[in-house]
Amino acid sequence: MRITAGVATDVGQVRQGNEDAFVVEPPLYAVADGMGGARAGEVASQLALSTITEMQKAGTASLEDEVREANRIVFARAGEDERYAGMGTTLTAVLASPEAIHLAHVGDSRAYLSRAGTLRQLTRDHTLVDRMVQAGEITRDEAEVHPHRNVLLRALGTEPKVDVDADDIGLLEGDRIVLCSDGLTTMVAEDQILAILDATVGKPQDAADRLVRAANRAGGIDNITVIVLDVDAGDPDEGTVAEAPVAVRPNRRWWPWIVGAIAGVLLLGAAFTVFRSYVDKQWYVGVSNGHVAIYQGIPASPFGFDLSHVDLDTELDAAAVEQLATFPDLRDGINVDSRDAALATVEQMRQDLQQQDATP
Ligand code: MN
Repeated sequence: MRITAGVATDVGQVRQGNEDAFVVEPPLYAVADGMGGARAGEVASQLALSTITEMQKAGTASLEDEVREANRIVFARAGEDERYAGMGTTLTAVLASPEAIHLAHVGDSRAYLSRAGTLRQLTRDHTLVDRMVQAGEITRDEAEVHPHRNVLLRALGTEPKVDVDADDIGLLEGDRIVLCSDGLTTMVAEDQILAILDATVGKPQDAADRLVRAANRAGGIDNITVIVLDVDAGDPDEGTVAEAPVAVRPNRRWWPWIVGAIAGVLLLGAAFTVFRSYVDKQWYVGVSNGHVAIYQGIPASPFGFDLSHVDLDTELDAAAVEQLATFPDLRDGINVDSRDAALATVEQMRQDLQQQDATP
């Protein structure tokens, strides 16, 4: 027997960022659902999972000890940086072999076992409503719509120490394990989860994708993360590596692009305004329709855009002025400092022409 894995995560339809995180590094599989203002939840879930993943590589501690260490590290980080004050995360992690899983759990993400057409929740939600159900104060149906159903009694990183639920579950060929954040279970009923699992036997990636899609169709009010582990009859040596491609849809954070585009347009507009006001202060004397003309702007046309326009057509004959020894550059444009200087230059041309006419 071997284990093959599929995983999918999505920001959902409402949230702006994805504060869920996951690990698929056989034999370790885990889901974490971060909480806290701004980006703190994202930091908490990532930090918890990276701690466990690193400790797994060292391979010296039990999974529960790794979770306790992750709690210590997230709690310490929250105390060091006020941006992260009060942050925390759920964590549902398994070490899986084809024969059994070892489970460690804190919070309201869940692990399920799908076996022979039934779905069994392997974890207990550490929520206020779950405690009320256990105490017989409300029914399970009432818990699903209770206004305080999101209140967690236990999370990783919010207290110096944390109690970690642990369990061992033997596996059989055909079993499927589902690890998920509450973005799935608050949106999709368990019988619908089971129906999707039944429709995707042997395809764990397909199962994960379809479960995430179902949560999004139902409204996707929260981030959604799903890992599906299949126990099948394949070669166990292949089972140590997830067979399915790990497909993670990128977060649809469209607003940074919009902000960037607006900033770009404003910057371009500002640059253009500065350039335009420079151009408008430039004057030259040139030729227009065979006449000497005063131009505002600069004598250039980059990309076909004229950077100057005729301010005054003097009706002086340009060809005649060009033949004067005094203004050989007329056709290229004679730069002057101001409109008055341009008028003075034109007046000089007029006088030079009159002088020439007067001289036999
Ligand atoms: Mn959540």
